[in-house]
Amino acid sequence: MTDQAQIAHLTDLRHALHTRPEISGEERETAQRIVAEIQALGADRIWRGIGGHGVAAEFRGAGPGPTVLLRCELDGLPIRELSDLPYKSLIDGRGHLCGHDGHMVTLLGVAMRLAIRPPRGRVILLFQPAEETGAGAKAVVEDAIWPEIRPDFAFAYHNVPGRPLGEIGLRPGPGNCASRGMQIRFEGKSAHAAAPQDGLSPGPAMAALMTALPALGEGTLADPDFALSTLTHAHLGEPTFGIAPAEGELRVTLRTMTNARMEALIAAAEAELARAKGDLHTEVHWHDIFHAVTNDVEATAIARDAARSLGQVISEMETPMSWSEDFGRIGEDGAKAAMLYVGAGETRPKLHNPDYDFPDGLLPIMIDLFCAIVDHILGPRVP
Ligand SMILES: [Zn+2]
Ligand SMILES: [Zn+2]
Repeated sequence: MTDQAQIAHLTDLRHALHTRPEISGEERETAQRIVAEIQALGADRIWRGIGGHGVAAEFRGAGPGPTVLLRCELDGLPIRELSDLPYKSLIDGRGHLCGHDGHMVTLLGVAMRLAIRPPRGRVILLFQPAEETGAGAKAVVEDAIWPEIRPDFAFAYHNVPGRPLGEIGLRPGPGNCASRGMQIRFEGKSAHAAAPQDGLSPGPAMAALMTALPALGEGTLADPDFALSTLTHAHLGEPTFGIAPAEGELRVTLRTMTNARMEALIAAAEAELARAKGDLHTEVHWHDIFHAVTNDVEATAIARDAARSLGQVISEMETPMSWSEDFGRIGEDGAKAAMLYVGAGETRPKLHNPDYDFPDGLLPIMIDLFCAIVDHILGPRVP
């Protein structure tokens, strides 16, 4: 196939994936489709069911050498797509609105080029499940298969609307914030609204915490101690006039630039709760736990050199992304890992908006860049 025919095939495939999004942990059909494609492209080995529905494919070089892992995500979102696209989601309440369909076909494009193998080492293409909940990368590195694919270098990218199409954003050091959801359940005792003193309402404690928890935030993304605490949900009792309430719930999203700052923010939030709760029974549950992404300096430099060799536009980012990404787990496991932040076009709708769609123009740019990174580490592939 010519390069042009390959891109046309991959674009059709992305549109097909776009019509059938599956949410985190449910990516069965998507994974099957990926396995079928990657088999046809002649991978030396394929692992299935890694960290859930994850798929990994190995392309071996001619001799021994390091392992380079490229990672994409399989999951869509539980959001109804609103668009007039001919390839709009056919599954109600589900949408590929983060561009993971584009990330997947980018890796399939790299697999096509790996028909010409590197002179040394190996390339692992990882199609990771459940990125949107923060559960997937953790499950992958804890999977029994992981030691077989554990990389020396790892790269991933996310498309970033609002920035020029194809501009390669780099940031050695902190790249994406850590975040986690804190759910607090309160239980007291109900009473007649005419005699609230006979009961125990969570109201006063909740009111105090609705001010105290957001006040734990400080600084901006330019500050390494940056912390943000966002109240996302509050619920108290039932919508009546006759009952003083017994139960309530608050949800708060905590966000920091580093994992260490997150530990401190968690301790501060728990201390506020202990101060406010009085005689109430309370329970805390944690959800959507994302560690920070800290980009390796050497891996980022390799990506920079590769982008330069292709004449691509590079943007050295001054601040990290406030949104989270579970790719940080792969760097924590020991790989030299770098996340790349690639412009998706200045006027494109934001990620997770109901009318978002991955820009197909990014596909050849990112296939070229990932292949140049592979060549940089494993030696030039000679046809
Ligand atoms: Zn997303
Ligand atoms: Zn995403």
